[in-house]
Amino acid sequence: WWDNVQMGPPDVILGITEAYKRDTDPKKVNLGVGAYRDDEGKPFVLPSVRKAEEIVFKKCLNHEYAPIGGEAAYTEAVAKLAFGADSPVLKEKSNCTVQTLSGTGALRLGFEFITKHYAKNKEVWLPSPTWGNHPQICNTLGLPHKKYRYYDPKTHGFDLQGALEDICNIPEGSIILLHACAHNPTGVDPRPNDWKQLSQAIKEKKLYPFFDMAYQGFATGSVDNDAFAVRLFVKEGHQVTLAQSFAKNMGLYGERAGALTFLCGDAESAAKVMSQVKIMIRTMYSNPPLFGARIVQEILNNPEIEKQWLVDVKHMADRIISMRKQLRAGIEGAGNKRSWQHVTDQIGMFCYTGLKPEEVERLTKEFHIYLTKDGRISVAGISSKNVNYVAESIHKVTS
Ligand code: PMP
Repeated sequence: WWDNVQMGPPDVILGITEAYKRDTDPKKVNLGVGAYRDDEGKPFVLPSVRKAEEIVFKKCLNHEYAPIGGEAAYTEAVAKLAFGADSPVLKEKSNCTVQTLSGTGALRLGFEFITKHYAKNKEVWLPSPTWGNHPQICNTLGLPHKKYRYYDPKTHGFDLQGALEDICNIPEGSIILLHACAHNPTGVDPRPNDWKQLSQAIKEKKLYPFFDMAYQGFATGSVDNDAFAVRLFVKEGHQVTLAQSFAKNMGLYGERAGALTFLCGDAESAAKVMSQVKIMIRTMYSNPPLFGARIVQEILNNPEIEKQWLVDVKHMADRIISMRKQLRAGIEGAGNKRSWQHVTDQIGMFCYTGLKPEEVERLTKEFHIYLTKDGRISVAGISSKNVNYVAESIHKVTS
């Protein structure tokens, strides 16, 4: 029955981890991993998550189905986290928010909804570069996608002029995807003033902003700072769509707790959109998984645990920031001639090192350090034990 099926390419990131596992050298380092690691290189369960788990367990809840769009206590709490407790959209109930299968599920559902119901220009504009799953999801759905300039390899920073120029040429009504914070793979975010200019240009061109927020709190250590762009766009009257994930900021990778929000202008329109989103969910997976969502809602709805969570997120963000500093100091301290300022300027879990493919290859072959060919490293894979080794190795392949 399946003779016509061709072998598909392996997932790039997961392939790196496989190669890392096969390597028997004791010095090996995995900088391809997309999940936070503690300073021992181990997965980290947040103390606030442990606490919430205990409370959920003690409640002796049943295992009935969740509502199609998830439980209201969850969707209300996550929308509040994203848009801010005093956001008018929540008071007006003009948001349609549903639980999704983490951030990927939110993107997939959001784009699928756009494919089916969006009445304007169904062209998606993605930043260049972007997370590999964005174009793949569009391809799966047959949604045309194009790129706008985002990263400037010369400065290792945000290409504001390039982005604004490209936005001016995007056809009216198209969808523009924006990483809310901690851009993956570059770690380069627009500054507040850049966001204001982007918002203005996007409004003038009547584009439809779709935010992907997979790292709220993870970039700067503050959930409010990291929601700046989303809240600014809402304040400026954009009816955004938002994909949220609790994989990174709560360490709930495998629990698949995320959310998709469409801002609809008013409660009536939100109710109509909700009715259609539910139909779409019903035929895809019927209703979302409960356990991760219960943990998230326990954290966000219990002020004491929420306080602990904010400490936990900051702890993760601070460790990453400190590793960035140590990595840069190590490379510069070895006498390297290139500029490494971008290592500390960039934000979040990923750093676009600017290493060339041949340098990446040497790092892997000679030094047993694993990373993607584009030179992206996951700073979470660096610890106080291996930072000097990584810095020295980067110095050796770049001088
Ligand atoms: N968007 C971006 C930009 C990401 O980096 C990720 C995680 N790698 C996601 C969305 C979604 O991840 P998840 O489905 O695990 O929530």
